[in-house]
Amino acid sequence: DELISQIAAGEVVERPASVVRELVDNALDAGASQITVRLLAGGVRLIAVEDDGSGIARDELPIALRRHATSKITDLHELETVVTMGFRGEALAAICSVSETALLSRPHGQDSAFLLDARSGELRPVARATGTTVEVKELFFSTPARRKFLKTDATELAHCVEAVRRHALARPDVGFAIWHEGKLVEQWRATFVPGQPPAQSASPIPPEGDAPAASQAAPSTDAQATLARRLADVLGEAFVAQSVPLHHREGRVTVTGRAGLPDAARARADQQYCYVNGRFVRDKVVQHAARSAYEDVLHGQRQPVYALYIEIDPARVDVNVHPTKIEVRFRDSREVHQAVRHAVENALAVPRA
Ligand code: ADP
Ligand code: MG
Repeated sequence: DELISQIAAGEVVERPASVVRELVDNALDAGASQITVRLLAGGVRLIAVEDDGSGIARDELPIALRRHATSKITDLHELETVVTMGFRGEALAAICSVSETALLSRPHGQDSAFLLDARSGELRPVARATGTTVEVKELFFSTPARRKFLKTDATELAHCVEAVRRHALARPDVGFAIWHEGKLVEQWRATFVPGQPPAQSASPIPPEGDAPAASQAAPSTDAQATLARRLADVLGEAFVAQSVPLHHREGRVTVTGRAGLPDAARARADQQYCYVNGRFVRDKVVQHAARSAYEDVLHGQRQPVYALYIEIDPARVDVNVHPTKIEVRFRDSREVHQAVRHAVENALAVPRA
């Protein structure tokens, strides 16, 4: 089982940022409203992710570290239409097999917290508020060959920050802080998202339900403002100042977010964020659609920047393509391509106010 775990780990854990991604995923699943990430040496010496979510009961601490211990899928239908972040139930097990991991948690409604040392199996009481901290030390300590592939601390840190950024852009209702070597590196404050209970939304802008295909009803200005604030915090004021909001519904696909204007061309080339049902993805169909829209509307813009949030019936997208869940497969890629292309075209065609 140790070997299986280590092989699984290779799929999931490539570098410290992979650990950060999975741990923040879990914190969001647990309904956290504030998530703090603490790193040492770019995450190689320590990654600690602390949340104020529902916590893990004492007896369930060891279970959480086992493979396929996921508590998030209750039936086959749910597996098919999985919309929650994380569903494989092996991230923690994989991380444990390539690091020294400790799990500290105090479940909601309990007045004691416990720490489980994954290596020794020791369970002891500790003091902490409601929520969970996962501590991952000495990543790849037992696999020096893997450790050798890691880059400098600064580079690994940058990847860790990017992993949090991807989550943060999908959840303006959750506060995030990142510390490195005892210094605050990033802090993004939570904003209440109107119309949704705090720390529960899957996407910053809710879809409109079953509106007709031609509906152009915009999301509430509050939701737009909330997203704009998070985008400004995370990507910079310039991104928001030099972009336009977009909202487009076509068939079963809703696209919201912001698209950068031509004078935003100086922005970093990697500022292309795409979310499907609240999950960050990298997808060729979406990238191509966005690029086509830019080519049509703004001749000459080589490097578009955007943050796109696609809402689609979960049954029409397969998220089980790769363990890191960064890739998806659309049942009908044409419907997504058209919706994204038209969404961006419409937004860019609107003159600036
Ligand atoms: P998955 O997220 O796919 O269920 P993981 O290996 O990532 O699998 O996590 C295993 C289990 O540990 C989760 O299903 C959850 O019950 C528990 N868990 C992990 N992290 C947290 C957390 N931050 N707060 C509450 N429960 C957690
Ligand atoms: Mg998980």
